[in-house]
Amino acid sequence: MKRLVILGGGESGVGAALLGKEKEYKVFLSDSGKIAQKFIDVLIHNEIEWEDGGHTESKILNADLVVKSPGIPDHVALIKKLHKATISVISEIEFASLFTKATIIGITGSNGKTTTTMMVHHILNQAGLDVAIGGNIGDSFAKQVLNNNANYVLELSSFQLDGIEKFRPHIAIITNITPDHLDRYDYKFENYIASKFRIAMNQTSEDYLIYDADDAVIVSYINTHPIQSTLVPFSLRKKVENGTYLEQNNILIEFNNRDIIMSTTNLALEGKHNIKNAMAASTVAHLLKIRKATIRESLEGFQGAEHRLEQVLTINKVKYVNDSKATNVNATYYALESMNTPTVWIVGGVDKGNDYSSLFPFINEKVKAIICLGKDNESLFDAFGNMVDTIIETQFMSEAVKIAYKIATPGEAVLLSPACASFDLFENYEDRGQQFKAAVRQL
Ligand code: ADP
Repeated sequence: MKRLVILGGGESGVGAALLGKEKEYKVFLSDSGKIAQKFIDVLIHNEIEWEDGGHTESKILNADLVVKSPGIPDHVALIKKLHKATISVISEIEFASLFTKATIIGITGSNGKTTTTMMVHHILNQAGLDVAIGGNIGDSFAKQVLNNNANYVLELSSFQLDGIEKFRPHIAIITNITPDHLDRYDYKFENYIASKFRIAMNQTSEDYLIYDADDAVIVSYINTHPIQSTLVPFSLRKKVENGTYLEQNNILIEFNNRDIIMSTTNLALEGKHNIKNAMAASTVAHLLKIRKATIRESLEGFQGAEHRLEQVLTINKVKYVNDSKATNVNATYYALESMNTPTVWIVGGVDKGNDYSSLFPFINEKVKAIICLGKDNESLFDAFGNMVDTIIETQFMSEAVKIAYKIATPGEAVLLSPACASFDLFENYEDRGQQFKAAVRQL
């Protein structure tokens, strides 16, 4: 029996443990922190050996194969020791892919992964395909592979892609690339870009890489690196060859044959970024030969993911929008762009060295007041202090919402789109979004 050691006892680690056990490995799972009780219950129930609160090296350095959680950086001592001992260390995505011959659709990018992944899954599901969703969203890929589906739609983070070797999605999407997580990439943007492009590294000309042709970073990388995949660009701004673009507000795909999918005005989700996400998702469906009526109906009925430009309530004709998932400036850019009324904007949190200048045109045009919701709001005051009449700070969501309620008049909107991480005042972005929604409901 081969010995499989799994480092990290979260969703992906426990998924890999279950799959490893099914595939007759001797499995040992080790986590340096505390494993959540719901995962401990799964491990016990499935008689999988585990430890938490530290790593017992003697039980790890004898592994035949190690699956490492994407949360563990490569430079930690234990990983270095494993590399020195020439023990193969892979990610759960790589491990899971060893045990399936299903069609894999992999989706990465800095923003829009979750939304696009859910859209693709929704369309395939509506088309009646046997399809499961997983990866960085919901269940781990490994856990899904236990169910033997014919198609997998996977959201993939750059950390997950860092641990792949042979993983080869038949269709890959890169939604966009803007600087993020640079602390894990030696503060070099090019390392982060390369990490995103790993999604295509094992593709051949029989596989497809769908990408945003309006994204200069992506296009420049493609022009300067050998890529085997068949390229399928999409663009909001121009006609692209062998790809997807707009013709009089209609999403038009010209690949093999020409298909007018639908008018963008009928998309359920608002905002230009969601037109892009819908273009990417319909391109996948087109490549899989799904009928355009199905694509259109799916996108007309698609309910967005929670905390992404989520419409919460309308009170006194003021619309409250929860975009707590906007943890960087680029995501907030699209949120502000999509607003078509004067807006009271709630922003702030942990600023990862943000450059806010791309937002300035929207501030002049539609932001009526700014409410800074962070421990340290200095950089927000520096950036926007002179641009609006009203800029206020608070450290409480309930207060932020009450202030917004007082300022906004009928026909206007209140938008939570923080452009920052949440962990100064909240547990995570979900907590921040839930608190926003609870405060709105109490108005
Ligand atoms: P991810 O999974 O990559 O974080 P999400 O779909 O969860 O992406 O969206 C994260 C944030 O980015 C949300 O605020 C959302 O409104 C915004 N967003 C969604 N799609 C895009 C896109 N294509 N470009 C830029 N921002 C986007």
